[in-house]
Amino acid sequence: MKRRAWLRWGCAHCAGFGVLAAARAADGAPPAPVDDAYEPPARFVRPDIATDEGGLWALMDREETRLRRSAFRMREDALAGYLTALVCRLAGEHCPDVRVYPVRTPYFNANMAPNGMMQVWSGLLLRVDNEAQLAAVLAHEIGHYLRRHSLEMLRDVRSRTAFGAFLGLFGIVGLVGQMANIASLMAFSRDKEREADRISITLLKKSGYDAGEAAKIWAHLLAEARATPDVDPSKNSVLFATHPPSDERRQTLENLALGSTGRTGASEFRAVMAPLRRTLLEDEIKRNRPYESVELISRLLGHEPGSAELLHFRGEGFMLRATPGDADLAWADFQAAVQTGQPLPVTHRALGALHRKRNEPAAARDAWQRYLELAPSAPDAALIRQALEELKT
Ligand SMILES: [Zn+2]
Repeated sequence: MKRRAWLRWGCAHCAGFGVLAAARAADGAPPAPVDDAYEPPARFVRPDIATDEGGLWALMDREETRLRRSAFRMREDALAGYLTALVCRLAGEHCPDVRVYPVRTPYFNANMAPNGMMQVWSGLLLRVDNEAQLAAVLAHEIGHYLRRHSLEMLRDVRSRTAFGAFLGLFGIVGLVGQMANIASLMAFSRDKEREADRISITLLKKSGYDAGEAAKIWAHLLAEARATPDVDPSKNSVLFATHPPSDERRQTLENLALGSTGRTGASEFRAVMAPLRRTLLEDEIKRNRPYESVELISRLLGHEPGSAELLHFRGEGFMLRATPGDADLAWADFQAAVQTGQPLPVTHRALGALHRKRNEPAAARDAWQRYLELAPSAPDAALIRQALEELKT
């Protein structure tokens, strides 16, 4: 059952919109096929509160109010403005109806609630390489929205006991643990996923992006999901349960994008993410999936080989993974970070700990003193001072 669930490879809880398209289909007017000439439908009208769909929208409005107040919502203006501009470029005239919220949760995910509330999780922001890849995920969600895929799913789920959990998912807080269970309930059919993927490629092309970037995301996620030995990713990875990547999907996206030329927007994306990335890397390490973290950060280092920040956090990943040889690999990364001339203060702290393990008290002292010079008011400064005292005795 679990395996079947992830094979459905849906963006499990990217719930798009609903009722009008269903009504239109009932009137015998099928939605236009998705190809390069695809034209999105006109803006949707907010459903009357007295209707079935209107009631669902009202529930989602309440979840949106909770999300706005949540400590998990990322409040950086530059990021919010950037995401909104990106959604508007892709969604065209539907722009005023889609409100996008970045949420600090270290897993790859994006979803769209029926009232137009879109979430983008910080784990996704850490994992995409450029604006085109981010746009590909947003365009996929917009694809579900434009096709109003989710209403039938919402109704279906509502008739089951999991509806409370389903609503809670849009409210985000504390739900990561439950997500794998909910994912199978919320996955769209393969046909709907294919349709959203097709729409995403046409929207990317229209907006001037290199649509070839879309397939790369799935290749990266696959590599990450397979990084941990002897672990079935469908059982242990929220990433796999909610957005199961597959070779087939990657291949299909690659074929759809064939011949696409356009921009990737790598430098624009990096400029927006630079002030936030350290926090996202800290969150990534706290996830305690070191094989995945090392895989991910090694890939990021491929784009920025001299990044002291990335070198530090891959070192942390090696320390956490702790397989034979990992302490040496961590050592090499921390040293390389110092050699950039601009290491994070915490790199000195980590080196101090490694020196102490190697029974090199003088070097440990130097490293920790350097840490305290650079970060005198760090939360663990008192602890490090105490460790320094112990080294002297
Ligand atoms: Zn989807």
